[in-house]
Amino acid sequence: MRVTMIGGGYVGLVSGACFAQFGMEVVVVEVDERKLTALQNGKIPIFEPGLDNLVAENVAAGRLSFTGNMDAALVGAEVVFIAVGTPTRRGDGHADLTYVYQAVEQVARKLSGYAVIVTKSTVPVGTGRKVAEIMRTARPELEFDVASNPEFLREGSAIGDFMRPDRVVIGVESERAEAVLRTLYRPLFLIETPIVVTTIETAELIKYAANSFLAMKVTFINEVADLCERVGADVHDVARGMGLDGRIGRKFLHAGPGFGGSCFPKDTLAMARIGQDAGAPQRLVETVVQVNDARKSTMAKRVTTACGGSVRGMKIAVWGLTFKPETDDMRDAPSIPVVSRLVEEGADIHAFDPEGMEAAKPQLPTAVVYESDAIAAVTGADVLVVLTEWNVFRAVSPARLKSLMKGRVIVDLRNIFDPVAMRAEGFAYSSIGRAVPDRD
Ligand code: NAD
Repeated sequence: MRVTMIGGGYVGLVSGACFAQFGMEVVVVEVDERKLTALQNGKIPIFEPGLDNLVAENVAAGRLSFTGNMDAALVGAEVVFIAVGTPTRRGDGHADLTYVYQAVEQVARKLSGYAVIVTKSTVPVGTGRKVAEIMRTARPELEFDVASNPEFLREGSAIGDFMRPDRVVIGVESERAEAVLRTLYRPLFLIETPIVVTTIETAELIKYAANSFLAMKVTFINEVADLCERVGADVHDVARGMGLDGRIGRKFLHAGPGFGGSCFPKDTLAMARIGQDAGAPQRLVETVVQVNDARKSTMAKRVTTACGGSVRGMKIAVWGLTFKPETDDMRDAPSIPVVSRLVEEGADIHAFDPEGMEAAKPQLPTAVVYESDAIAAVTGADVLVVLTEWNVFRAVSPARLKSLMKGRVIVDLRNIFDPVAMRAEGFAYSSIGRAVPDRD
């Protein structure tokens, strides 16, 4: 089966490579010259574990190719996936569908025979209908179907998520389109992946509802963490005690500085707007957005407070910049407001992130100094702030930190260290939701 994947970002590139691995013939269309040139030269423009080998293997097998020429990519296409970005529209919080509609218009101009046009991008309810309208208006004679196939992969474990998903959601309105998508996902039948077949509107909403629910779980435990700090409880134990209840589940109960990334912030905002527009306000989701925004902007204050009220002139080591480990994605990362605020307040920031520093540079103040590794960043520092829980940071012992740092203040916004061990080394250690009194 011939697949055209429009967009070679985190979703398009991973999905394209995985479909090629399933045996499909995949052409990825990418408009960004820099990304395209990299891909055509065998380089992967993003960091995603395992993706370089998967891409290389499928390119070598002749099943995967990259082009900037949409017209050529559409020749003989049986399925056209739209995997372009749907960022927050400036000003109103709605999903910006400019890239989606631009892509559809290009497809409408050049498609030569029956194909299923599938939105893999996260798009508001009703987008599938509009895609069909654009196609029909431009090409009344053309036979086509529109479908929704939202993607649930997570950056950092994207290939595994795509190859072994909890479920595949397919929104269709014809048996023919359903059959095409089932064929595409046939390799997953072997591992008995549930396929949820719905209407297009339902599939579109499933994605927003799922992401908003997960964001709500994170926000819930973050507020519980604040309560733990006030009442002398430990949020890790609360989360474990809650999460072992099968009705609740253990995942997404990790307290931290507030969620970020390319999906949760924009998808919660878009879900809130979709609800308002439809006259069914999603009050829980609206609150999640407000609480999370407020949380991210107060995290710098935790650092200032831990430093006795001012960070002016202090050398602060920052470990981790990306919104989570195992990715280079900086979109909406909590590090952005935290580092920006600390720089404004006169701190001298020395940052290290294993994969995210290039993407971080345009997003952070120019005064930030980027170090070559975690040790270089923390050497001679007055304060250490942990912003992303990369494994490489966990490996540094409290004794080592003591020998490297000048000061004794650690603000661990990801709870990667043991408070007892830190205090034993004489650190003024603060973390999230673990205000448990010292035991003798
Ligand atoms: P991205 O920004 O990494 O990639 C989108 C790519 O599309 C870019 O490289 C861009 O240059 C390209 N593009 C835009 N218009 C184009 C056109 N007309 N022709 C060809 N290429 C074009 O975005 P992403 O993270 O891959 O996300 C894509 C969609 O998938 C979004 O709707 C997002 O919400 C959703 N999603 C993302 C994730 C994730 O973890 N990143 C997970 C699930 C769903």
